[in-house]
Amino acid sequence: MQCSVCGAEAENLTSGDFDGLVVRCKRCGEYEVADAVLNDLLRLDFDARVAALEMAKRAAGPDTRPAIALDAA
Ligand SMILES: [Zn+2]
Repeated sequence: MQCSVCGAEAENLTSGDFDGLVVRCKRCGEYEVADAVLNDLLRLDFDARVAALEMAKRAAGPDTRPAIALDAA
């Protein structure tokens, strides 16, 4: 699959019971995007997607997988 943030080749770690995508990207690390957020995320330009991921990483802290949310965008 392609990373939803940077477009690079990425691994899809999504498990069957998660309503969205879990991605492991060499550039972005691991993150998750809920289904409801994914379409809006893909409509953003590159800088805005990276910013959304950075915000999620800051909110999650080092031991939690960041979950991208766009309510602040
Ligand atoms: Zn990426």
